[in-house]
Amino acid sequence: MDRQQEFVLRTLEERDIRFVRLWFTDILGYLKSVAIAPAELEGAFAEGIGFDGSAIEGFSRVSEADMVAKPDPSTFQILPWRDEGDLYSARIFCDITMPDGSPSWADPRNVLRRQLNRAADQGFTCYVHPEIEFFLLKDKPIDGTPPIPADRGGYFDQAFHALAPNFRRHAIDALEAMGISVEFSHHEGAPGQQEIDLRYADALSMADNVMTFRYLVKQVAFSDGVRATFMPKPFSEYPGSAMHTHMSLFEGDTNAFHNPDDPMQLSTVGKQFIAGILKHSGEISAVTNQWVNSYKRLIYGDEAPTAATWGGANRSAMIRLPLYTPNKASSRRVEIRTPDSACNPYLTFAVLLAAGMKGIENEYELPDEAEDNVWALTEAERRAMGYRELPGSLADALVEMEKSELVAETLGEHVFDYFLRNKRAEWNAYRGRVTPYELENYLPL
Ligand code: GLU
Ligand code: MG
Ligand code: MG
Repeated sequence: MDRQQEFVLRTLEERDIRFVRLWFTDILGYLKSVAIAPAELEGAFAEGIGFDGSAIEGFSRVSEADMVAKPDPSTFQILPWRDEGDLYSARIFCDITMPDGSPSWADPRNVLRRQLNRAADQGFTCYVHPEIEFFLLKDKPIDGTPPIPADRGGYFDQAFHALAPNFRRHAIDALEAMGISVEFSHHEGAPGQQEIDLRYADALSMADNVMTFRYLVKQVAFSDGVRATFMPKPFSEYPGSAMHTHMSLFEGDTNAFHNPDDPMQLSTVGKQFIAGILKHSGEISAVTNQWVNSYKRLIYGDEAPTAATWGGANRSAMIRLPLYTPNKASSRRVEIRTPDSACNPYLTFAVLLAAGMKGIENEYELPDEAEDNVWALTEAERRAMGYRELPGSLADALVEMEKSELVAETLGEHVFDYFLRNKRAEWNAYRGRVTPYELENYLPL
């Protein structure tokens, strides 16, 4: 048994822990959990816990259903509140393996780890920090009816005696109690909309953090008497919820994106990385924006990107170079504004990294910076300037993904096939539905 495992087992003894929740994530980004008694954890470290993978979205074919969850001791944390019966629970993320111990091809954590290993082979470590937007809603929404925002605040509003600031404080306390550092938090532009930005971490820890974040935010909202949703675009009339993703690559202690002699202080590697994500943005879109609803966010004028563009401080561009402390080399990074808050963070970080690495390996040329306001241009103007539109719907995104060697290679054959099949089924289920828009506009026909 290694030292981390020993530490976890000792902590379980010292604290009154009732359950250890083994967490993992399915291909669509849903959190899964198996609770075990603390006494079982030692065995789980040694052998893993077997489960029926065929019952998990996309995990296995029925004929090879047995899978094993192996807890990763470095992710052990105690949940910040007591369960019924006044005892604490802990959680630990798992890697999923086949019964012979080989990594499962269906485990999103493994997809990301594989990509990180590829980057490591070239000498790079990948750091990520997300800005996560979401809505607080009054009460439990009733299926099919418009939700009601929990407050009437706007961008950066400081409310008094109000729900939103209290909620953010409770959420941040819970996150920090679980070892997740928060950098900023504020009210976002729409009523009920909040944003919490996490302090950077390596990409794998950050994907785990995003899963933990969603769980904690929903729990805290519930105990504050409201509901949280990460749905990409719950209101037609307001902007949706983005998960702007800041990324940088380090070679040892050196930020590979930083070059003090460049006017933007951005290195060639940084430029090639941006060029890679721009060039492959269409193919990876079904992963970074995986739901029918995701594409209702990516429209003109709602502060969300619509074309594969980049710009210095340009908020209408898909990739931005955020302001940073000049000459603070470690903070030179790129901000990718496409992903939404309902993406699978493991797969999203994996495809973004793969696209950026492709740009580096093939020395892609960075195209010209975008106009100040891409949203103000007409479609014809944008085309004339050579901007490529992002896919306009999940169906369009799937057509592009299907042709993509890059995505097939990154996700691996099993996840790639499953994802396409599952998402086509989602599109077809949606396509056949008659919407309120149609009833409003076409009944008079
Ligand atoms: N909510 C906006 C979006 O959907 C982003 C707002 C911002 O710039 O922070 O992309
Ligand atoms: Mg924001
Ligand atoms: Mg941002």
